[in-house]
Amino acid sequence: MTIADQFPDIVKRGEPLAPYTHLRIGGPAEYFIQPRTVSELADVLRHCKKQRVPVRMLGGGYNLLVRDEPVAGAVVRLQGEAFTGLEREGRTVRAAGGGQLFDLLAFAVRGGLGGLETLVGIRGTVGGSVRCNVGDRTGEIGSAVRRVAVLTDDGKQELRSRDELNFSDHSSDLVEPVILWVEFDLEPNDPEVLLRRMRKAWVQRQAGEPHSFQAGVRMFRNPAGGTASSLIERAGLAKHRCGGAEVSERNGNYAIVHPGTTAADVLGLIESVRKTVRERTGLVLERELNVW
Ligand SMILES: Cc1cc2nc3c(=O)[nH]c(=O)nc-3n(C[C@H](O)[C@H](O)[C@H](O)COP(=O)(O)OP(=O)(O)OC[C@H]3O[C@@H](n4cnc5c(N)ncnc54)[C@H](O)[C@@H]3O)c2cc1C
Repeated sequence: MTIADQFPDIVKRGEPLAPYTHLRIGGPAEYFIQPRTVSELADVLRHCKKQRVPVRMLGGGYNLLVRDEPVAGAVVRLQGEAFTGLEREGRTVRAAGGGQLFDLLAFAVRGGLGGLETLVGIRGTVGGSVRCNVGDRTGEIGSAVRRVAVLTDDGKQELRSRDELNFSDHSSDLVEPVILWVEFDLEPNDPEVLLRRMRKAWVQRQAGEPHSFQAGVRMFRNPAGGTASSLIERAGLAKHRCGGAEVSERNGNYAIVHPGTTAADVLGLIESVRKTVRERTGLVLERELNVW
């Protein structure tokens, strides 16, 4: 029995993934699944494991490039009440993995809890942002994480406490298929102070990103002691182009896409930038963008 037969109400076959990603690029998913409850999600995971169907989690698609070809297996998206809630107890906020990072920041700031406000402007879901340990020079999300609830590939819920987790530059060692919820330990502070900090961070972030009318994604992790953008710019690659994909002139670490761009164009740009930077600086950039 296929997943589509087993879960007919929540599975779509051949659903195009492009509309669910920031770049609006990519082929369809063999099975696109939007579970309604945690137990339904756990059943899906168990079924996929039994049938040896690969499972991929889709967040907001901000750190993701979907290839032009169909994606084999199951793509799971968390949406709806069971996967987007926010709760507070004292200085701890529990955020469900499918909720928007921005909603979490706004909830914390309104409640007078600081520690995440400088991440404003980074887009994504809570689950995707913790898995990718989002952040910048002002800090990273991992440093506020208290514990994480995950679902294993056999649908079991497990807790990962702070001392079991390792966060590094734009990555974490959370390898289980699903981040169900995350608890953050935050610092009580005056909401007005936090709001001012948030506004300042917002302005700074906007200045370092592609224009708001452009869709762009970050290509590489920052190398030790430097930034990928400065290496790319020093290699003379601003506005370098491959098909419809182009290096942003505002920040060399962003690939922006013009209408009609394919995933192959974006991958071609990434490879061409990596090769030129290696030739001109001797440094090998590591890709940050997830590719399916
Ligand atoms: C314009 C722009 C600016 C950005 N600026 C920054 C920045 O300043 N700093 C920074 O760090 N990042 C930045 N990013 C990258 C991006 O915003 C983050 O990585 C983002 O938080 C990814 O979250 P997502 O929900 O979109 O995940 P997706 O892109 O959908 O997925 C990313 C990875 O997380 C996994 N995943 C998603 N949800 C879950 C879940 N619930 N459980 C388990 N795994 C999951 C996916 O399988 C995939 O491997 C930027 C991106 C853009 C487009």
